[in-house]
This record gives sequence, C-alpha cells and structure tokens, in this order.
Amino acid sequence: MKIYDVLIIGGGVTGVMTARYLSTKTCSVALCEAECDVAMGATRANSAIVHAGYDAKPGTLKARLNVRGNKLMKELGAALDVPVKEIGSHVIAFDDTDMKHLKGLYEKGIANGVPGLRIIDRDELRAMEPNVSEEAVGSLWAPSTAITCPYGITIAAAENAATNGVEFYFNFRVTDVSSVGEIYYVTDGEETIAARYIVNCAGVHSAEIAEILGEHDFPIEIIPRRGEYIVMDKICGKMANSTLFVTPSERGKGILVSPTVDGNLLIGPNAYPIDDADDTSTTQMGLREITEGAHRIMPTVDTRNAITSFSGVRPTPNIYDFYIKASEQMPRVIHAVGVESPGFASGPATGEYIAELLQDSGLVLEDKTDYIPTRRADGNHKHFNEMTDEERAEAVRKNPAYGKIVCRCETITEGDLLDCMDSPIPAVTIDMLKSRTRAGMGRCQGGFCSPRVAVLIAEHEKMTLDKVTKRGGDSWLVLPKENDKKGGE
Ligand SMILES: Cc1cc2nc3c(=O)[nH]c(=O)nc-3n(C[C@H](O)[C@H](O)[C@H](O)COP(=O)(O)OP(=O)(O)OC[C@H]3O[C@@H](n4cnc5c(N)ncnc54)[C@H](O)[C@@H]3O)c2cc1C
Repeated sequence: MKIYDVLIIGGGVTGVMTARYLSTKTCSVALCEAECDVAMGATRANSAIVHAGYDAKPGTLKARLNVRGNKLMKELGAALDVPVKEIGSHVIAFDDTDMKHLKGLYEKGIANGVPGLRIIDRDELRAMEPNVSEEAVGSLWAPSTAITCPYGITIAAAENAATNGVEFYFNFRVTDVSSVGEIYYVTDGEETIAARYIVNCAGVHSAEIAEILGEHDFPIEIIPRRGEYIVMDKICGKMANSTLFVTPSERGKGILVSPTVDGNLLIGPNAYPIDDADDTSTTQMGLREITEGAHRIMPTVDTRNAITSFSGVRPTPNIYDFYIKASEQMPRVIHAVGVESPGFASGPATGEYIAELLQDSGLVLEDKTDYIPTRRADGNHKHFNEMTDEERAEAVRKNPAYGKIVCRCETITEGDLLDCMDSPIPAVTIDMLKSRTRAGMGRCQGGFCSPRVAVLIAEHEKMTLDKVTKRGGDSWLVLPKENDKKGGE
C-alpha cells in the first residue's frame, strides 16, 4: 500500500489550496473528497467576493489570511488564466449611525494593512454607482476587493495540483481513521488511504472529522448557517460596477448586490442556522427577503430577470476566528475548522499557512525543481468563447469539434467539453462540465444543452446514457431501457 506524506480530507478551497501549495514541494500528497468533484461544499455556493480584509478584527488569523489571500488570489488567477477582477467594493451607509460604523471598519482596515481605503460622500458614491439608492449617504470604498468564480479557480488550482502529482480520491467519504505507529489509515468503508500527516479541511463536517480522528473533547462546534441567492440575467450585469454591501450587523455582512465575473448580477445572501448541514434548498420566504435587501441598495433590481437561485452553508464556529492549528491530541494532524467567510478569499494564504503548520509538526518540505506552474503540463487551456477570431479558426482547423456549438446561451462547443473530459481531473458528470465551461448556466439553464452534454459524456466514457449522472451518486438523468433492466432499478 502506498503511504503518502500528507492526506488532505476535503476538496473545498481550503483543501485544494493546501494541496496546490504542497505540490510545489517535494512531498507526496493525496486529497480525498466525499463528492465526485472539488468545490462541492461552501466553495461552490458563496458570494464569490475576494474580500479586501477590513472586516476582520486586527490581530486575528482571519485578518492576516484575508489580506494576504486577496493578494495571492489575484496572482493565482494570473498564473492559471482564471479571471480575478479587481472591481472594488462599497460598504454603504444609510444614516449617521452607519457612517460611524464605517469609520470603525476603515480603522480596522488600516490596522490590517488594506490598501486604498477611503470613506466617500453621497455624491462621489453616486458618481461611481449611478443606480445605488438615493437613501445612501456615503460609503467605505475598498479598491482591492475583487470578484472571481470560486469553483472555477478552485478547479483550476486542483488541476494544477494534479499536474504536479497530487492524487485525488473522489466519492471517498471518510468514515473511520486508525493508526499503526506513525501511519494513519483513513477509510470510507471500502478503500483505505495511508498517510503520515492528515489535514482536516472538511468544512461544515470538519468537527465530525475531528471526532472520527478520536478527538472527543474537540473545542469547536460548527453551527451550519445557510445563505440564499438569486442570479440575474446578464442584461442586469452592468447595473453595478462594484460589489455593494450594506453596513454589517451582528448577523454578518448582510445582503449584497454584486456583478459576477461572468457578467450576471448576484443578490443575497441571508443567514439562518439550519439543522441539516447539507441542506442547500432555497425558500420562497428567503428569496423574498433577499429581494427586499437588494432593493434597499438598488431599488431598480427587477427580479423578473432572475434566472436561477441557489444557497450555500457556512461552517460557522462557536468562536470568532478561524480554528486552523495542529491538533492538541493527535500527532501530525492539522485542523482547518470553522473556515467561514472570508474563507474563500483567504484560501491561497490558508494553504500556505497550513504548510507552515505541517513543517512545524515535522514534515520536511523542499522546493520542487520540476514544478509546473500551469493547469496542465502543456499550459493553460482557453475555451472557445475566450478565443480571438484567429484562435477560433485555428482551433476548428485542428479539431472540428470546436465548430459544433453545444450550449447556445454561453457559446460552449463540443471541443471545450471534450477537452474537460480529458483534463487532469476528468469531468464526467453534467455538473462537472457545467462548472468548468458554463454549459447550462445561461438564460435557458441547460434546457437546450443538457441532453446533448449527457450524450457526449456517454459516448466519451463508452457507457449507456442511463449511467450518466448530474452530480455523481444516484443523480441519474434517464432510466435504463426496459430490456436492459435486470431485476428493476
Ligand atoms: C452563503 C455564503 C457566502 C459566502 N461568501 C463568501 C465570500 O464572498 N467570500 C469569502 O471569502 N468567503 C465567503 N464564504 C465563505 C467561504 O465559502 C468558505 O469559507 C469556504 O468556501 C470554505 O472552504 P472549505 O474548503 O473550508 O470548505 P468547503 O468548501 O465546504 O469544503 C469542504 C469539503 O469537505 C468535504 N467533506 C466533508 N466531509 C467529508 C468527509 N467525511 N470525507 C471527505 N470529504 C468530506 C465536502 O464534501 C466539501 O467538499 C461564504 C460562504 C457562504 C456559505
């Protein structure tokens, strides 16, 4: 049995950025993930804001990792060809009390080292954001805030890690851990992975992993808190130039209005504790609440242009800060627990920090001489809709599949989809292809392309259509033909 130096549990932004950072070093790394892809937890469904770092209390780990993560996320986007757009953000004040609060945020931001912060008045705000409510009296402007696609950049980082030797185990939900000598044996009940060091990055389930590891008095409790969103059609994408927050309250950063990196407009989230940490449903009441919240910032947002809704679950801990530290009970175990917002923005810095903790626990890390900085050994790959006319002509000449449009809303070709099926982390479900190419994310929400994508997967994987799933597990799209049923399904 292969014994890895490090096994990372959980393939969200925290686990993947740790894997990517470690892949620049001379150690063997595996990452196991309960779902069929990376970025299937909170990393999939959030506001996608690379926060500037003025919100966290100075001196906390949150503040430090957020500010460094903001810088590193932009560098990572440039290295892996994933757009990270520095569009800035406003925290909007509606009265004098809010304005006083902004001063507090400004001071925290200065203490945290956030560049370019300014408190601006109503006129300057309206000049920058003409659609903002007339009730707004000023804002805190943070030019270093950015937007990106949270799962897009996590997938790109995972492919880069895989290119550099990290081994991914999908559909591997850790159920038990044992140890013999210095080796941990981690199992999902069927397969076992052996490693010297374990990094627990299991998001809303990270406290449960601590329990599975045998830490019965684990000090952190996770309270899952769901946040719902509405995505507006691209015709609304230019209503805001930057991310627009309200002044935060005790319940969090509040409901925002923000352009997305793909040109849509996003409104949300609310925040409610839930019992089932995996419940990502949306509710009529919640969607009404976020519509009202968005109208407070921008009264002209028209939800008749909504194309979809979704929700994500925050792994909110019972302490203020991230709990990222070496286990107090188990040797060679690092926990990344309670990584709530700004956990996405902090991701690349968190990966770096976890590597430091591993070194402090005895892992020897040296720079790899043959590290490949791109997603694939042969470079970063552009999609058809990102190519110039000349590049498109060349792509179709080399591979006629680039001449066949599969998703009309987002101009995704058969060539783009086949390319993702052959990538370092092969995309073999409808949602894996969707999150890599945006096929199915346009105005028709996959009504046109989903059946075609399913047929392509079946042909490429040489399987029957009834084996194709939306997102792994039993999320099949069609029933087997009557004659193929063996004892019913
Ligand atoms: C509504 C909302 C809005 C947010 N907005 C922002 C924002 O704008 N900016 C920002 O910086 N942050 C934001 N956040 C926070 C951010 O999304 C999280 O901090 C970050 O995604 C956490 O990443 P993670 O990798 O720690 O956890 P996750 O992304 O949840 O990943 C954990 C992974 O572990 C896997 N796993 C769980 N149990 C097991 C097991 N037993 N075996 C194997 N694998 C397992 C899960 O399947 C999952 O993929 C927001 C969060 C939410 C919910």
